[in-house]
Amino acid sequence: MPANIIDGVAISKGIRAQWKARAEALKARGVTPGLTVILVGADPASQIYVRNKIRACGELGLHSELYHLPAEVEEAEVLARIRALNSDPNVHGILVQLPLPPQVRAASVLETIAVEKDVDGLHVQNIGSLVAGRPGLYPCTPSGCVAMLDHIGAPIEGREAVVVGRSNIVGKPVAMMLLARSATVTICTSKTRDLPSHTRRADILIVATGHAHLVTREMVKPGAVVIDVGTNRLPNGKLAGDVDFDSVREVAGWITPVPGGVGPMTITMLLANTVQAAERLVAAQGMP
Ligand code: NDP
Repeated sequence: MPANIIDGVAISKGIRAQWKARAEALKARGVTPGLTVILVGADPASQIYVRNKIRACGELGLHSELYHLPAEVEEAEVLARIRALNSDPNVHGILVQLPLPPQVRAASVLETIAVEKDVDGLHVQNIGSLVAGRPGLYPCTPSGCVAMLDHIGAPIEGREAVVVGRSNIVGKPVAMMLLARSATVTICTSKTRDLPSHTRRADILIVATGHAHLVTREMVKPGAVVIDVGTNRLPNGKLAGDVDFDSVREVAGWITPVPGGVGPMTITMLLANTVQAAERLVAAQGMP
């Protein structure tokens, strides 16, 4: 029997409705949660991602603003913009769309964003909070993956979870989240010897490599939950995941499609982080 599809669009709808209600509660107290996005350069994929994030803010009734800076901008100017946003009380979330041009160092940018406004959850302090099991703003794509597992009721505790990819944005943080939920976690990289021997053990398989169709049917344990983070543009213009959806769905128990899987969940978690950041600011200010 083919796998059940994990529908990121449908799951997002339910989660967004909950956060919309929380945003409305804040608005009733005179605070409209606000996200500011900084986009540097004209990378077409980044422009689409940013447009989708801004549109989603509007749908939830959040305020949003976009600073679109030229590709040649100096790093100092980007940092100055971030510092100004850090001290603007109407801005609750700051997101700098990656990748950045070479003269603007991503690490400097991410570390300049105020920790409490870091709605992408990529500041080292927020990553540290995640690793240490402390409250913080956690990265959006990994949070989206775990929210999908919870939505379908997939058990995590004591299960074998295999994460393919170790980026700071996806692989490492999702592995930490699964570890925090007491999964037995294996992280695979491009240097892993015999990748299938690891993936075949996975009750939960999360793939984030940027290689279209890397994971095939023979690499998946029957009944496994397969979360495909990959978003790859094929030569024919279509989007494809890192998992060969057609063959793997014949063996997996659950599988995310691309598009319509992790992508919408990432944006949903960004909205959630923005509302959460606003809630914490209100609480810190002791507003009635
Ligand atoms: P990175 O390029 O930063 O990291 C890729 C990781 O995959 C690296 O750790 C790399 O290993 C590993 N890897 C590459 N090839 C293999 C292989 N053959 N076997 C095992 N591991 C391998 O990518 P990201 O994590 O940023 O993104 C991964 C994918 O997810 C991309 O397609 C990206 O577009 C997509 N993405 C989607 C999002 C969404 O919202 N849907 C959000 C973020 C990303 P090594 O470290 O050894 O080089």
